[in-house]
Amino acid sequence: MSRFDPSAFLETCGLRATRPRLKIASILFGDGRDRHVTAEWLAEEIANQGEPVALATVYNTLHSLVSAGALREVRGASAGTIVFDTHTAPHHHFYDETTGELTDIASGELSVAGIPAAPAGKTIAGCDIIIRVR
Ligand SMILES: [Zn+2]
Repeated sequence: MSRFDPSAFLETCGLRATRPRLKIASILFGDGRDRHVTAEWLAEEIANQGEPVALATVYNTLHSLVSAGALREVRGASAGTIVFDTHTAPHHHFYDETTGELTDIASGELSVAGIPAAPAGKTIAGCDIIIRVR
């Protein structure tokens, strides 16, 4: 596997390679592992590495990466929290109410039946199941 190039990665996402974006991309995608992060966690992680970035910048970058299809938003695990997921294919999650941690449910381990028809004039865009554990 070739070494992660955050600059090239941002370019494929249509984003200019600024220092904060390079840092964010490296933390999220540098080791090729799937991650679930919040903007707050990411801002703290960057600050711990010595170059603090404004939370608004972190949010803007994360939302740009979502728009580019490189990240997926997971909402509803805990009130008001948006978790950003580097695993962008459709999948479901376990949510640990004790630690706040999200874990992927492996593809094929959960099937959903009996989804109702969408309300008039709407189409179903997705179905994300979050199973709470403690
Ligand atoms: Zn996930």
